[in-house]
Amino acid sequence: MSGQINAFEMAQEQFDGVAKKLNLDPQISEALRWPMREFTFRIPVRMDDGSLRVFQGYRVQHNDARGPNKGGIRFHPSETLDTVRALATWMTWKCAVADIPLGGGKGGIIVDPATLSTAEKERLCRGWVQNMWRNIGPRQDVPAPDVGTTPQMMGWMMDEYSKLTGQFTPGVFTGKPLGGGGSLGRTEATGYGVIYTVREAMKYLGIDPKKSVAAIEGFGNVAQYASIGFIEMLGGKVACVSCWDRHDKTSYTYSHANGIDPHFLLTIVDQYGTIDKVKAEAAGYIIESGDKWIEKDCNVLIPAAIEGHVNAETVVKMSKNVKIVAEGANGPCTPEADEYIKQKGIFDIPDFLCNAGGVTCSYFESVQNDMNFYWSKQEVLEKLDAKMTSAFHGVLNMSTKENVYMRDAAYMVAIDRVVKAMQLRGWA
Ligand code: NAD
Repeated sequence: MSGQINAFEMAQEQFDGVAKKLNLDPQISEALRWPMREFTFRIPVRMDDGSLRVFQGYRVQHNDARGPNKGGIRFHPSETLDTVRALATWMTWKCAVADIPLGGGKGGIIVDPATLSTAEKERLCRGWVQNMWRNIGPRQDVPAPDVGTTPQMMGWMMDEYSKLTGQFTPGVFTGKPLGGGGSLGRTEATGYGVIYTVREAMKYLGIDPKKSVAAIEGFGNVAQYASIGFIEMLGGKVACVSCWDRHDKTSYTYSHANGIDPHFLLTIVDQYGTIDKVKAEAAGYIIESGDKWIEKDCNVLIPAAIEGHVNAETVVKMSKNVKIVAEGANGPCTPEADEYIKQKGIFDIPDFLCNAGGVTCSYFESVQNDMNFYWSKQEVLEKLDAKMTSAFHGVLNMSTKENVYMRDAAYMVAIDRVVKAMQLRGWA
């Protein structure tokens, strides 16, 4: 995570505000403020040169009242237990708001995966599973890829789990490669899901998508398909994307006079989301510092990189024309930025609604694994669109009915569903 923001304190602060509004029983609040289970462990890995390196691993299971825990595993050099706790908490709300029968979890390893060889990454992935296999599974906790992890890694992890349990169990991890139990449409799911919610917000606000311009932070999985979706599904223009340059250890914004071409940028971005500067410059892209993305003239802002980047300092720099903030990343807006966005009357699509497309498609993947029958990409994306559209309108209805901000409305919908499940199970 970036700067001094503690993501978990932020998640608790957001929850406390809504718990107060909902007049939630203090005991239920206390149960939901903290994860149910946390695992921290050390993973020794034999490196290619024969040396041994020990990595810190995490898995946090926030709440499983509505079904098995669900959430990604991140490989990031600045991973912390508090970041994982926050992300696990948000997963509980995300699954509930999307109305899929799953709880919230998240995992991680403190590592820059770009510094490892393929064989070292495989040993690290298998090491994570060797620590966690007793506490994950299709009926317990189903991890998935996230920042710094890939479908191939899920394939290795699923294989390790199947070996340790002696049973082929594709449903233990989602986001697996195609042909290895993966679902068509998973690569596009989160970015396209962002765009389905933006499309619905535009309809509600009476904004013409074809005259719309987006500024996007990041150019990893979410930002790539959000860019493509914004241009191809909505007919809008994308002014810029940004990325962390793993060679220079700094971030850059890439814009183009005609709007960026995501298909071209996809040919010059590596698997970690770093764009090749030389090739971008040769193609006429303007390259500026990483914080410039937020200042671009646009009416839709899509932070889709990392948490806390829309904060008190940066939010005031956003274009006066911004009408929609679509939170593609998890926790991109700090409470101060959130307050500013609210005061300005900008329509915010909160992270756990906006980026729920990934987990919804993961849910479809486990359904397909269970049936051992696989849908076409078109079927997956149609089902995804229907789920995201319904989730968006569920939150919008709550927001208009209770006259509350979209984030509060999303929390109200989600918390209500989780509390009901806890009550049904006799936990509350
Ligand atoms: P990714 O690893 O594919 O890409 C991350 C992008 O962010 C890269 O372009 C990277 O260069 C950029 N980045 C990293 N650090 C940065 C920094 N300090 N400044 C500027 N740019 C930076 O990750 P992703 O899968 O696209 O995920 C992006 C966000 O969306 C994360 O918050 C993730 O938790 C969230 N998310 C992802 C999914 C999914 O299905 N991939 C689902 C839900 C939420």
